[in-house]
Amino acid sequence: MIEEYGSTETGSLAGECPHGRMHLWADRALFEVYDPATGRVGAEGEGQLVVTPLFREAMPLLRYNLEDNVRVSYDDCDCGWNLPTVQVLGRAAFGYRVGDATVTQHRLEELVFSLPDSHGVLFWRARAQPSALRIEIEVAEEHRGAAVAELTASVRTAFGVDSEVTGLPPGTLIPHDALTAMPDVVKPRSLFGPDEDWGKALLYY
Ligand SMILES: [Zn+2]
Repeated sequence: MIEEYGSTETGSLAGECPHGRMHLWADRALFEVYDPATGRVGAEGEGQLVVTPLFREAMPLLRYNLEDNVRVSYDDCDCGWNLPTVQVLGRAAFGYRVGDATVTQHRLEELVFSLPDSHGVLFWRARAQPSALRIEIEVAEEHRGAAVAELTASVRTAFGVDSEVTGLPPGTLIPHDALTAMPDVVKPRSLFGPDEDWGKALLYY
C-alpha cells in the first residue's frame, strides 16, 4: 500500500522492493531507532525513527526525530538489496488516517487558525479516530456555536471526513497558570492518534 516513505524535511527515506517490503535508503542517510521509554538509541528494533541525511544540500539535519513509530530490521530479504527493512507502525509527523483521509497537525492547525479572529480560538487538540476526527477548541461561550459549526464544515471540506467538534471554556485545555510557567514545553503538539494520550496536548514533552 505504501510504496515510498519519507518527509518534507528529509526527502525519500525508504522504498518498496519487489517482495513488498520497505527498505531504508541506508546509503543516503543514517538511521537510528530511539526508544522514548528508555531513552536508548539503537540500530534496529522498535521505536521512533531518527534520521541523519548524508546528502542534504540546504541546512544539515542531525539526528532528526521524525516521531514516527517504526520497526527496523537487518534481517535478509529475498530481494537481495542488502538494505535494512522498516515497518511504519504510526506516522506522527505525517498525519493520521481518518476514513480515507490523512490528517496532519499542520493542515488541521491551518483550519483552526482560519476561524475568524473574533472567535478568539487559540488552543485546540484533536484525536484522529478511524471513522471521525474528534476536536476540542477553547472558545468563549458567545462564539462557541459559530466556531464549532465553521470548523466542522471546514474539516469536511478539507478532508472529506466527519468531525465531532467540542467548544470548551477558555482555560480548560491549557490552565492559565501553565501559560506563564511552562518551562518543559519544547514542541507543542495537538494532533494525536486513537491510542495516544491527548492529555499531553500542547504540554507535550
Ligand atoms: Zn526486499
